[in-house]
Amino acid sequence: MSNIFEYAPAPESRAIVDIKPSYGLFIDGEFVDGTGKAFKTVNPATEEVLAEVAEASDADVDAAVKAARRAYTRVWSRMSGSERAKYLYRIARIIQERGRELAVLESIDNGKPIKESRDVDIPVVAAHFFYYAGWADKLKYSGFGETPLGVAGQVIPWNFPLLMLAWKIAPALACGNTVVLKPAETTPLTALLFAEICQQADLPPGVVNIVTGAGDTGRAIVSHPDVDKVAFTGSTDVGKAIARAVAGTNKKVTLELGGKAANIVFDDAPLDQAVEGIVNGIFFNQGHVCCAGSRLLVQESVADEVMERLKRRMATLRVGDPLDKNTDVGAINSAEQLAKIRELSDIGEAEGAERWSAPCDLPANGYWFAPTVFTGVSQAHRIAREEIFGPVLSVLTFRTPSEAIEKANNTPFGLSAGVWTDKGSRILSMANRLRAGVVWANTFNKFDPTSPFGGYKESGYGREGGRHGLEGYLKGEDS
Ligand code: NAP
Ligand code: MG
Repeated sequence: MSNIFEYAPAPESRAIVDIKPSYGLFIDGEFVDGTGKAFKTVNPATEEVLAEVAEASDADVDAAVKAARRAYTRVWSRMSGSERAKYLYRIARIIQERGRELAVLESIDNGKPIKESRDVDIPVVAAHFFYYAGWADKLKYSGFGETPLGVAGQVIPWNFPLLMLAWKIAPALACGNTVVLKPAETTPLTALLFAEICQQADLPPGVVNIVTGAGDTGRAIVSHPDVDKVAFTGSTDVGKAIARAVAGTNKKVTLELGGKAANIVFDDAPLDQAVEGIVNGIFFNQGHVCCAGSRLLVQESVADEVMERLKRRMATLRVGDPLDKNTDVGAINSAEQLAKIRELSDIGEAEGAERWSAPCDLPANGYWFAPTVFTGVSQAHRIAREEIFGPVLSVLTFRTPSEAIEKANNTPFGLSAGVWTDKGSRILSMANRLRAGVVWANTFNKFDPTSPFGGYKESGYGREGGRHGLEGYLKGEDS
């Protein structure tokens, strides 16, 4: 028996989406053929090829940047904030209207469970456009000036394809910039559907340009001389390469990079809720989350009890078809990412940590990894230091709050952290001492467009979301 609860599958229909056999690039308001090669995007749950997608060449990127520059100079930067807001509100409403279609397509191309794409990704995407629509005519109150930068070059990863697009495009447009955005190679389809939504909203041509491709296309965007702003979300290694590439230019840069968050459970925490928070912290979106609670720090006196309850809970997680509404954990996004998760997990075992995986039958085709927890992890272990970016939790213990702080901060990253305790005063003192951009208390992985998000140290710089998210797209009050 694979799961202690038997249940009947309840698959969402994929009939609502119309996946074309091939896609071009979205430049100057039209879909155009690329001048380069094409690549395939697959459904990671089945390995089925979904479509062929154009790989933008340097010439294509140049055409997109020129279109964005024209739209910036002639239309978008001249339009009043209240007029720009109308387009953003319209886009937000169309996202809601087409929410089911977007959620199904996101789950097919990415592998994430439909209950997450439907109840988290897409609603938060719409909320982001509504939120920044509200700022478009109120920039004089932002504290960061009212003058846009020009053309923004934006490169995003595959873990939250449409959500990362929204985090990039909504504030850029609200501030009066135009954009050239590259989605990740393994998840281009919802960005291309978003391009159709821009057409449906009558967004002026060239304000949003979507160029698909791989790392070279991303490089062409960030190094293009006529790009004024680079916004990147992805791995720390690529982020460092981008920081080097733009050094010495006038480009404004924001980088949202990796993380290795500590989720800290004190002995006075409500343990059942904490276990739900641990599960949500690391198994949400297959652990493909930059702010995932991938290091559990549990107070020694309750460690055995927490581990017992956690394993019992993990055994009930339903792993499988992303389109099944019962599914808790979907497919790993790519064969490459699966190989990386396997490699680091094998290293964890070789380094002496004890591995336990939830008992579950994994489908024969596609990319899958059972929810896994490592105990007996030391701070020196690679599984405690490196981002695994998969459904793998490392458990460490502590005795005192100071030891918890010392272990939590002992990482090159600083994106997020969680604290579970009954004491409000302890929450505040922990939050002040944790070197992390976001600290959740008695909850985890909560996202809201009004709240700024971003990292310390190697997790990057700049903030996205909230009023602070406007800063990266405005010239500043004294310039
Ligand atoms: P990645 O390899 O760095 O890729 C991110 C994006 O950059 C992709 O579109 C990628 O294209 C492109 N790219 C690759 N090489 C490039 C180069 N030299 N110049 C310009 N662009 C380049 O990261 P990933 O593995 O897709 O994503 C996972 C990482 O993102 C994790 O480290 C995670 O923590 C981080 N992340 C951070 C946040 C945050 O807000 N801090 C949020 C989500 C994810 P391809 O698709 O073709 O590779
Ligand atoms: Mg795909």
